[in-house]
Amino acid sequence: MRKTSLFSVAMLALVLATSCCNEPKVKNVIYLIGDGMGFGAVTSLLLSEDEVTGFEQAPVIGLSETCSANNYVTDSAAGGTALATGTRTNNGFVGADPEGNQLTSVLRKAQEMGKKTGIVVNTTLTEATPASFYAGVTSRKMVFDIAKQFTESNVDVAIGGGLDHFIARPDSLDLTATLIEKGYDVFLNWETVLGTDSEKFVGILPLYDLHRREENNGTASAAEGQEVCLAAQLASLNEDVNTTHLSEPTVYLEKATVKALDILSRNNKDGFFLMIESAIIDGYGHNNDSDGMIVEMKEFNRTLQNMIDYVNNNPETLLVVTADHETGGTGVYYNGHKPGNEGPVKLNFSTSGHTGTVVPIFAYGPGAENFAGLMKNTDVPKKIEALMKK
Ligand SMILES: [Zn+2]
Repeated sequence: MRKTSLFSVAMLALVLATSCCNEPKVKNVIYLIGDGMGFGAVTSLLLSEDEVTGFEQAPVIGLSETCSANNYVTDSAAGGTALATGTRTNNGFVGADPEGNQLTSVLRKAQEMGKKTGIVVNTTLTEATPASFYAGVTSRKMVFDIAKQFTESNVDVAIGGGLDHFIARPDSLDLTATLIEKGYDVFLNWETVLGTDSEKFVGILPLYDLHRREENNGTASAAEGQEVCLAAQLASLNEDVNTTHLSEPTVYLEKATVKALDILSRNNKDGFFLMIESAIIDGYGHNNDSDGMIVEMKEFNRTLQNMIDYVNNNPETLLVVTADHETGGTGVYYNGHKPGNEGPVKLNFSTSGHTGTVVPIFAYGPGAENFAGLMKNTDVPKKIEALMKK
């Protein structure tokens, strides 16, 4: 008996050792952040989408506490910094600790491991969430400093907006010229980005290429001290939008992410780290716009589906999807429906600002099991870093 049980234990150890070592390494990381994407936003998609969503395909689901160093309710700067660097900081701080020291992000750590890196956002490249991955400043409003720090980031592929922060600057520098000197191709229109084979480029596009514009939705109602949402900013843009000028804003994020994946997959012996932000879910939360949020979540889901397809075809890829915070205190409004006679989903909101409730994490690919359970937002990049080192 004793011999048998010892044998069983030895066999079990062997099985465990084999199963552990058969799991693919984490060569590539895709980190997809939905700004303001809490449970209400995710639920709005589940209730309004007939097909199986990308969220439902997640083999592992976890929860993240989102508070900042100085508030139960984080803004996108401290929230992005936590997700990028593993350190809690004060609201408004970007990539810097509460004393103002620059932190090292998981993107930079990926670079140190020889990985290529990418940033794709449907907001400005200098916005707080992407900036948390490459900059270190004590105010998210320091967009000109952030743009300068971007030119020193050595990120291989970046697609987003914010050209003014690079060329219409108080110091009169033309940072697009700086980027070109550093070996980048710089593209200012969507078609060129989609068509390029360059392995080191920055696409800085007009905001109307990055997101659809809303009719009659120019009334931002952010509370005192809160950021004004980008959806409202877009609606009130005075840019002369010629329809021949408009590209494909409703498919921008999914196409830009697929483009970045295509480029980062080339000549990538050591893999890549790609950070993606879907920024405007937050805006619909601020605006308490139920229909807008549902449309935005459908766009997010298409992007997510493409990333899942990539993970399925490239098993050394870890995909982590989460949010920096919840926006709007979003819930599903009481609205009875019968099968076959279903009315549109209506969300209700408890605030025009952010809330401090926990947000979901969805993980796919090797190491996904590490993201099960309840954790702090700062644990997420630490876990990613540990898995990249394995
Ligand atoms: Zn916000």
